[in-house]
Amino acid sequence: MRDGCGRTIDYLRLSVTDLCNYRCRYCMPAEGVAKRCHGDILSVEECVEIGAAAVRCGVRKIRLTGGEPLVRRGLLDICRGLRALPGLEELCLTTNGSLLAQMAAPLRKAGTDRLNVSLDTLRPDRFAAMTRRGRLEDTLAGIRAAEDAGFKNLKLDTVLIGGFNDDETGDFLNLTVEHPWEVRFIELMPMGPCAEWERSCFLPGEYILKKHPALRRIESKGVARRYRLPGAKGTVGLISPLSHDFCGQCRRVRVTADGKLKGCLHSRKEIPLRGLHGAELETEIRSGVLQKPLRHYLTDRPSDTPRTMNQIGG
Ligand code: SAM
Ligand code: SF4
Repeated sequence: MRDGCGRTIDYLRLSVTDLCNYRCRYCMPAEGVAKRCHGDILSVEECVEIGAAAVRCGVRKIRLTGGEPLVRRGLLDICRGLRALPGLEELCLTTNGSLLAQMAAPLRKAGTDRLNVSLDTLRPDRFAAMTRRGRLEDTLAGIRAAEDAGFKNLKLDTVLIGGFNDDETGDFLNLTVEHPWEVRFIELMPMGPCAEWERSCFLPGEYILKKHPALRRIESKGVARRYRLPGAKGTVGLISPLSHDFCGQCRRVRVTADGKLKGCLHSRKEIPLRGLHGAELETEIRSGVLQKPLRHYLTDRPSDTPRTMNQIGG
């Protein structure tokens, strides 16, 4: 699919729930989100139907996200349904890792190809403080389980936050020396609870390059600029939506857990897909893609979306 600006769109991020077992301070309010009725959230069948229509329109990669996808009942059925779609090249999932110890092997068996695990700190006390309820050891156990289950080239996603984890970047880089993982530092985006945080919390990706001059540039993949420490088994990625606006290379659209297609994470524009089937559903997906905004305006102002990240699908 081509959008209205000529970009190829072949990547769908499909949110399977807005609920989460964590309350990360930059993502969700302390009280969480009001639990919706079962019927407000896409059913397993709707998730697969929307995925199938997107693949017929030209999507080749689907990432399941949330909220926390592993708390979603029926997640494995969604994976199996999507994996069976002819034309889908990659089925990926982003998780906080808390339930991966039990779920990694079933996810693999259900056809998930790749995992991203979010991990913002390697210190147990900070982990508990940032997630307001999580335990670092659960995520570390989840990462081990993912490797045991056969997930290769794991990606660890770390939101870089000034005054919180900027003193741990060396520890994260060290992980790549021994492990074939990609540690990706993501710039904090001003939205939801962190929209009004102090400027000093928002560090550019360049911070990593200045602090670790030994990093050597390697080929980029997608929106991540990639680097490697000499001799390291793994790699380092910088995802810089603010300092290196990559909207021109964006290939993705999103569907929220309540069935709205969003061309951009940060725009207010949403296209309802629920209740549509077959050709009608495809037409709305194509129409949403055509209306995908040219870019976001995060460098001028906070995100335009009234949703928090867990309500979109990060
Ligand atoms: N619960 C899962 C997880 O944490 O991986 C999936 C959903 S979460 C919303 C997806 C990703 O968005 C996480 O890596 C999280 O750190 C990131 N994220 C949330 N709010 C963000 C923000 N304001 N700026 C940058 N990344 C953010
Ligand atoms: Fe939950 Fe992920 Fe948001 Fe943290 S970042 S509150 S784990 S959805």
